[in-house]
Amino acid sequence: MRRGADSDQLELAVVPPPRTADDLLAALRALGLRRIARCTLTRNRTVMVSFGDGEIRVHEGYLAAPEPVLRAIVTFVEGRTSTDRRAARQALLAAAVVSRVEPRPPERTHPDDEPLVARLTATHRRLNAERFGGALASVPVRVSRRMRSRLGHYVPAAQGMPVEIVISRRHIRRDGWADAEDTLLHEMVHQWQDESGLLVDHRAAFRRKAREVGATPSAKRIVDQPRRLAG
Ligand SMILES: [Zn+2]
Repeated sequence: MRRGADSDQLELAVVPPPRTADDLLAALRALGLRRIARCTLTRNRTVMVSFGDGEIRVHEGYLAAPEPVLRAIVTFVEGRTSTDRRAARQALLAAAVVSRVEPRPPERTHPDDEPLVARLTATHRRLNAERFGGALASVPVRVSRRMRSRLGHYVPAAQGMPVEIVISRRHIRRDGWADAEDTLLHEMVHQWQDESGLLVDHRAAFRRKAREVGATPSAKRIVDQPRRLAG
C-alpha cells in the first residue's frame, strides 16, 4: 500500500541489512566510505576492523550492526582527525562488547596435548605454593596449537570468556620445558594482577611482582603483546 511522499521516504531509509562482504561494502560506501575497494569478512575475534591497501577487513558480527555502528566504521577509516577516529574506534569496540560479535568457540586442547596440560597444571600448583604463597586461584591451563607468535596468554574472565592461561604448544616444543615454565610464571603474574583488581599489563606493578617471584623481566623477553582490537 502506498501512502504518498512520506512513505516513499520511509522506504528509502529502510534498506535491508547487509548479508555479504559486497553488501557491507556497498552499505559503507553509501555512508561515505571512499578509500576502500574491497571488503573481507573475518571471524578473528581479536581484530574487529582493520584496513590497508584499499581493503577493509571487518568481523562478520558487524553484518548485523545498526547504522550508527556502520557509520563508526566509515569514520574509523575516513575520519579527518585522530580524535574522530579514536571515538569511532571506541564505538566499534563498545558495539563488539555488547555481543553483536559472537566470540569464536573456544579452542580445546588437542587430546595428544593432555599430558602437557597435566604437567602445566601441576607446575601451576607448585609455583603458586612456592612463589605466591598459595594466594592464586587454581585456573584452567590450556595448550594451544593456534597460538603461533605469542608464547602464552592470560585471559581474564570477561566478555563471556572463562579465565584461563594458555601456553603455546609450539613454544613448549621449540624452547623446552624450562622456558615454558618461565612463560607460565609470567602469565601467573598477570593472574595475580587480575585477582588483585589491577590492570593486566606490563607496567610497574607487573615488573615489581615479576621480580619478586623470579619471572624473567618482560623487557628481556617478549611473551604476550596486548591483543590488537582494531586498527
Ligand atoms: Zn604478559
